[in-house]
Amino acid sequence: MSRPDRLAGQVAVVTGGAGGLGAASARLLSEEGASVVVVDLDGDRAAEVAVSLPGPAIGIAADVSSEADVAGYVAAAVERFGRLDLHHLNAGVPGSFAALPDLSLADFDRVLAVNVSGVFLGLREAFRCYQAQGTTGNIVITASIGSLQGSADLLAYQTSKHAVLGLLHGAAVYGGPLGVRVNAVAPGIVPTELFAANATASGGRDDMATRAATTPLRRAGRPDEIATAVAFLLSDEATYITGAVLSADGGASVVSTVRP
Ligand code: NAD
Repeated sequence: MSRPDRLAGQVAVVTGGAGGLGAASARLLSEEGASVVVVDLDGDRAAEVAVSLPGPAIGIAADVSSEADVAGYVAAAVERFGRLDLHHLNAGVPGSFAALPDLSLADFDRVLAVNVSGVFLGLREAFRCYQAQGTTGNIVITASIGSLQGSADLLAYQTSKHAVLGLLHGAAVYGGPLGVRVNAVAPGIVPTELFAANATASGGRDDMATRAATTPLRRAGRPDEIATAVAFLLSDEATYITGAVLSADGGASVVSTVRP
């Protein structure tokens, strides 16, 4: 459910904005009055999402693991809308399903380049942008239930999602005195291309039905349910919240293994 005008006058960037969760976030931020910059490796899909939004929006092709691309999307956003206020650092990739002895360094590095360096670069550019504008701002990182749990088979992905909590904590401490709030949303399972890729890579060991059955709410989440948490944290309803991780996972992260 959107709250029209809650984000009126704000300019928001959503990375991974052509994907399942990013597109839902872009839609809700737009419905709530923000001008939206949809950033994705897939520039065509980013542009399609942008034109589908109810308010002003542009789509930009960028790789969040590239310093030049991150600086470029921020500059393009400021050029188009005059400023930047809100950042949803959401782009991410799944890792391979491999036990520790079989995980290649190349795969480990590939996942960390997007999921960790991409968030680092996004945070750094956001702070540089606020400094140049002389404004405060507000940032949400997409973490994961994998930020809070361990798995024998998803080491690179879960390591990357633990690492973003380190970036979250440092950025929140740095940003607080500057009036910049930084928070994270930790989704559980949501049917998107990323989860489908994960399920395929697992060879049937990790599927939606099994995950849903062990989630207290007994179902997967919807992209709009994750977007609701993002918009709340980006809004002025969350003015005393920074450095927080808001789980949006149907309770899956608090399940005991004794009786799920
Ligand atoms: P998705 O695959 O639908 O979307 C991810 C998007 O990121 C894609 O559009 C892709 O093109 C883009 N992307 C990938 N690499 C990029 C790069 N280098 N630069 C720019 N864009 C890039 O997946 P999703 O489920 O919407 O994932 C969004 C975020 O949510 C990810 O960070 C993911 O780890 C996290 N997450 C997802 C789930 C889930 O169950 N779907 C659960 C927990 C966390």
